[in-house]
Amino acid sequence: MRYISTRGRAPALAFDDVLLAGLAPDGGLYVPETWPSFTPAEIAAMAGLDYPALAARVMAPFVKGSVLEGQLEGLAREAYAGFTHTAIAPLKQLAANEWLLELFHGPTLAFKDFALQCVGLMFDRVLAVRQQRLTIVGATSGDTGSAAIEAIKGRAAIDIFILHPAGRTSEVQRRQMTTVSEKNVHNIAIKGTFDDCQNLVKELFADAAFRAEINLSAVNSINWARIMAQVVYYFWAGVHLGAPHRAVTFSVPTGNFGNVFAGFVAGKMGLPIDRFIIGSNRNDILTRFFETGAMTTAGVEPSLSPSMDIQISSNFERLLFEYLDRDAAAVERLMAQLKQSGSYTVPAAAYQAMCARFSGYRLDDAGTKRVMAEVFAATGEMLDPHTAVGVHAARTAKANPASPRIALATAHPAKFPDAVFAATHIKPELPRALADLFNRPERFTTLDADLDQLRRFIRSAIN
Ligand SMILES: *Cc1c(COP(=O)(O)O)cnc(C)c1O
Repeated sequence: MRYISTRGRAPALAFDDVLLAGLAPDGGLYVPETWPSFTPAEIAAMAGLDYPALAARVMAPFVKGSVLEGQLEGLAREAYAGFTHTAIAPLKQLAANEWLLELFHGPTLAFKDFALQCVGLMFDRVLAVRQQRLTIVGATSGDTGSAAIEAIKGRAAIDIFILHPAGRTSEVQRRQMTTVSEKNVHNIAIKGTFDDCQNLVKELFADAAFRAEINLSAVNSINWARIMAQVVYYFWAGVHLGAPHRAVTFSVPTGNFGNVFAGFVAGKMGLPIDRFIIGSNRNDILTRFFETGAMTTAGVEPSLSPSMDIQISSNFERLLFEYLDRDAAAVERLMAQLKQSGSYTVPAAAYQAMCARFSGYRLDDAGTKRVMAEVFAATGEMLDPHTAVGVHAARTAKANPASPRIALATAHPAKFPDAVFAATHIKPELPRALADLFNRPERFTTLDADLDQLRRFIRSAIN
């Protein structure tokens, strides 16, 4: 399988190169040259597989020709061995036709573990074959940093540096990063905002000499391998609730559009999906898009669901590429418009086709707490604020009543204890593996928001 860039001006690459590259050199995102698909009989035969076996089957077409070919099942078993629920991704029924797909039983209690636990191992194996070393640098405002650190810690050929804004992440989120003791993990508290952190990372990537010197890479959600690993749980849920014989509906709380795009890929691969319902908080650029056909950036404001506080949904570019019939020049034009004027509009035919498959809803903080309280009162389930946004969208959307509605539960409630307490007056408990989080020693370095300081720190830490 080969991969092409959504902007059409980068050479096609094999899976292993796409894994290590992340972003394409023309600024685009990699997508498979063609979509592999399963027949209804092949999907029916997925029933009864355990999660790692299913993962191997769903991911196999994407890694044809990779050094990982034939190793996927073992890799997936290792990746998901640390999950604390034996089903890995359990489905829980909330109401007559409403289901929660719990994606928070991994080591950092958010769905990002599904992709990153796999991708960490993939990096390790490809680097071992190539006898290369790699330095990963990323910025985080919350969940991504800890999931990446958990996935990379202790890996011999990789150093990871995660920047977070000093004093501006939740204490649980910070401690999940800073209490990891492995030597290849480097936490940096930047005296500044999340934007300062992200700008420093961008400047590092723009410094070609330094980039080559340390073999710099990223694990943010534009990496194709992360999307690929997330496709699996859509098949998992679909097959458990009746696919291929009946179509299901997914509701996804959305930020960068990575998670819901993985669902779209599952549909391309033959999983019968009725509709995608998207939930956003007050930072509702995607919901506004599905209401109007115009993608228009606005400022970011903090909300109870910080992992969806985004200005631009970077993975939306992949969807655009599909709905513009893979016209890379057209994608590039719209992306240039967005950069220049903060806005673009998609052609009417593409917009209509998107609306036949996707719809977006929004929920403010007061509404989020209300939904958390309602669900708790009715079912005893505690939802984290991100999940509540998705459940609200699932309940609001007009969708086929005969299609099981599956809301993705993207984080464990204990990751956001203050919001959960405000809504339910109960303090959610951390799972046993993290129960002593507040007693573990923290380790991080504080730096100014200064590129030179950062470069010096990275150089000295990896040598
Ligand atoms: C990252 C994250 C999201 C948003 O996912 P995208 O793939 O960026 O759309 C939603 N909920 C939680 C808990 C997250 O950590």
